[in-house]
Amino acid sequence: MTIYPVIDVPFEHRHQCWFCAEPSNRWLDYQAQAYTPHPSLAVPCCNECLQLAKKHPSTSIWDCQLAVKDALMTIYQKDLAIGINWTEEELQQTEFADDCKIFGGFKKSAWFMYQVAKQRINTRGWSIVIAGIPFDDNGFLNGFEFDDVHYRSVQQAILHYSKTWSLDANFVEQIVNIVGRNQFSYALRIARINLSVSKERKLQVLQQLQQPD
Ligand SMILES: [Zn+2]
Repeated sequence: MTIYPVIDVPFEHRHQCWFCAEPSNRWLDYQAQAYTPHPSLAVPCCNECLQLAKKHPSTSIWDCQLAVKDALMTIYQKDLAIGINWTEEELQQTEFADDCKIFGGFKKSAWFMYQVAKQRINTRGWSIVIAGIPFDDNGFLNGFEFDDVHYRSVQQAILHYSKTWSLDANFVEQIVNIVGRNQFSYALRIARINLSVSKERKLQVLQQLQQPD
């Protein structure tokens, strides 16, 4: 059961996770804000992407997708490195004996794990259509521009500024989710003013932003 309307799923993508194309058995209910170029909606997803997406609601379902990809890339860094360090042939020609308990298994599974991880990260969900009505991404997929710098995603910009100013990235993320990417500098300002406040105070700030009156 979902809270929001489910996006249309093309036949060839049925039972697929919208984020990574692995088999899906969950739904992500994505709550849109006033500035989001699509209504609140639900997408099919796998359990891992669901957990990651919940952590990074971001400013649209597309930004959320980029954040999930980044998170997957971090989690599967080791598997992805296989493809950077080896070719499939090289791996087959390594001296690890196939019956060697440790490395034989590694040889067989490593390339497979690499391919799965690569495929999951390269997948780009299908277009957002709800009951036959398509929603344009309004440039949300083309990255994010701030202070004359182009970021791959709004998430990347959040991480960059959080690192530079030692901000709580999760707090910045939640503020941006409420005020929108167009008010990015305002979001950063709020995060900086509340740099070393308690968890409770941060929660209060977020609640006030949600109900400005
Ligand atoms: Zn997934």
